[in-house]
Amino acid sequence: MKKKPTIFNIQKFSTHDGPGIRTTIFFKGCPIRCEWCHNPESQVFAPETMLNKYGKEEVIGKEYSLRELVKKIQADQIFYDQSGGGVTFSGGEVMAQNIEYVVKLAKECHRLGISVAIDTCGVAPTENYTKVLPYVDLFLYDLKFIDSQLHYQLTGAGNELVLANLKYLSDQKAEIDLRLILLGEVNTDEATAEKILGWLDEQKIHVSEISLLPYHDFGRDKYKRLNRECTQNFVKPTDEQVESVQKVYESAGYQVTIGG
Ligand code: SF4
Repeated sequence: MKKKPTIFNIQKFSTHDGPGIRTTIFFKGCPIRCEWCHNPESQVFAPETMLNKYGKEEVIGKEYSLRELVKKIQADQIFYDQSGGGVTFSGGEVMAQNIEYVVKLAKECHRLGISVAIDTCGVAPTENYTKVLPYVDLFLYDLKFIDSQLHYQLTGAGNELVLANLKYLSDQKAEIDLRLILLGEVNTDEATAEKILGWLDEQKIHVSEISLLPYHDFGRDKYKRLNRECTQNFVKPTDEQVESVQKVYESAGYQVTIGG
């Protein structure tokens, strides 16, 4: 794997990727292909060309040295300190990048007193989580589907590794915000929520929060601009469906938020 990962976005003043005010670093490249993905430009590891909103070609993705990236993150440290925020490594899939680079970046942020969160889909070697764990304050952990066959159908990979890594992180006492995508007519129902709760209970998995992420189709236009067929063809769950799922998790004692 090449030394420096490709970054496709650095979002400052983000409030959806963990607590407080954050800088979110989006790493380009993902090992799976979720059909509802609203960031299709994040999937391919290498830089690629995409039309911008004005119809002009733009290269998406750039390499940064560790020092450059740390400088960008550190620039807003005062806001992190005041708001209880920090930096979030997102993607794409950060845990499937050059892990030595990711560990060094997390370690340096940690040394500077900047809180580190990692947003992950769980499809990465467990040893990568072991390496980065000492420098991570929070995992935003996506569990797409509890049913492996469905996971395979809609992402291209089964969920065995996702479940194993979630169990591993919980056993290691990592702080976990479990994030659950809700697709209308697919998994926004009480029976699915009960199944997930049953598995968490059986495996003795501790998560500090559950975030429900109702599907939206904001990314449709991006597929066109990448000259790719749009796979975002799902139904948005209704507010009533989301609320009924929320109640199932809350009744089991979980703190639940809607959205990232
Ligand atoms: S894990 Fe995230 S970035 Fe990767 S395909 Fe799924 S939604 Fe897109």
